[in-house]
Amino acid sequence: MPRRCTVCDHPERHSIDETLVTGAPYRSVAKRFGLSESSVYRHKSEHLPAHLLKAREVEEVAQADDLLVQVRYLQTHALDILEHAEKAGDLRTALAAISQARGNLELLGKFAGQLDERPVVNLNVSPEWLELRAVIVGALEPHPAAHTAVLRALESVGNG
Ligand SMILES: [Zn+2]
Repeated sequence: MPRRCTVCDHPERHSIDETLVTGAPYRSVAKRFGLSESSVYRHKSEHLPAHLLKAREVEEVAQADDLLVQVRYLQTHALDILEHAEKAGDLRTALAAISQARGNLELLGKFAGQLDERPVVNLNVSPEWLELRAVIVGALEPHPAAHTAVLRALESVGNG
């Protein structure tokens, strides 16, 4: 029997999804909507990409596009912050930006993968690929220029 997701069942699910997409901390989202942190985390990683797709399927195109536009905007913003923080030698902010950028990247990748219905192996939805990609991006963290370049390249593939 599948476990019910308290976030999916929540009457304010769309607001929760929107809040999650802005990168709000799980703890504050959980607190604000009376949910547990673990269910918010699970919902974001397992259900949110599908919601982005479903919103599109049921002709809530504007809603899905809004979310996607927000993720893309946040990604650009996170990479800008990363660049500035690196130039300023602010490693703490740079790390936070990297972490945000990686989350956005994974969300974009999952979304792109789910939109692609061709009957071929799709790297973007493969858990192995997502894991490998995280490892690659993580390994490049001490090398800012390479890290940024790889993130941008991955992002453009995800968007393609
Ligand atoms: Zn859920």
